[in-house]
Amino acid sequence: MWVPAGATAALDLRLESVIEGVLVSGTIVAPLRGECGRCLDEVSDVGTVEVRELFYYADRAVDVADDDDARVLVDDHADLEPVVRDALVLDLPLSPTCRPDCAGLCADCGARLDEVGPHHSHDRLDARWAALSALAEDGAPTGTDQGRSDPDESKEKK
Ligand SMILES: [Zn+2]
Ligand SMILES: [Zn+2]
Repeated sequence: MWVPAGATAALDLRLESVIEGVLVSGTIVAPLRGECGRCLDEVSDVGTVEVRELFYYADRAVDVADDDDARVLVDDHADLEPVVRDALVLDLPLSPTCRPDCAGLCADCGARLDEVGPHHSHDRLDARWAALSALAEDGAPTGTDQGRSDPDESKEKK
């Protein structure tokens, strides 16, 4: 997933003055585009992330000089771009799907299983597996009597 270039993100933010600087918090909403991880169809979504970031006053930044992630106000400006980008990137789904139950693609022919149906299959005439399938048939569980005879039925009716 990614945010399309040039797309508009909506930022609903609150800026609070605190002792160390300015605390920026709020919600970012941005359109997302991507490919279904199973069938490669295009996927669009809307990413919504919460942000909460403290921008230090330059003269307070010495307290966090060792912290590379600390953000500092420059000329009374808070650069929100890296904050927005980091928040959105961390929230992107790793394997998006077009639908939660997308069946994906046939491993043999690449057809979309949602289109060709659940019974789509290819006959495998591979001699190496023939012996195995014969075994599987022999080994199938047999004669599970459970639930077959209803005790009430065996009683003679009077
Ligand atoms: Zn899909
Ligand atoms: Zn197929």
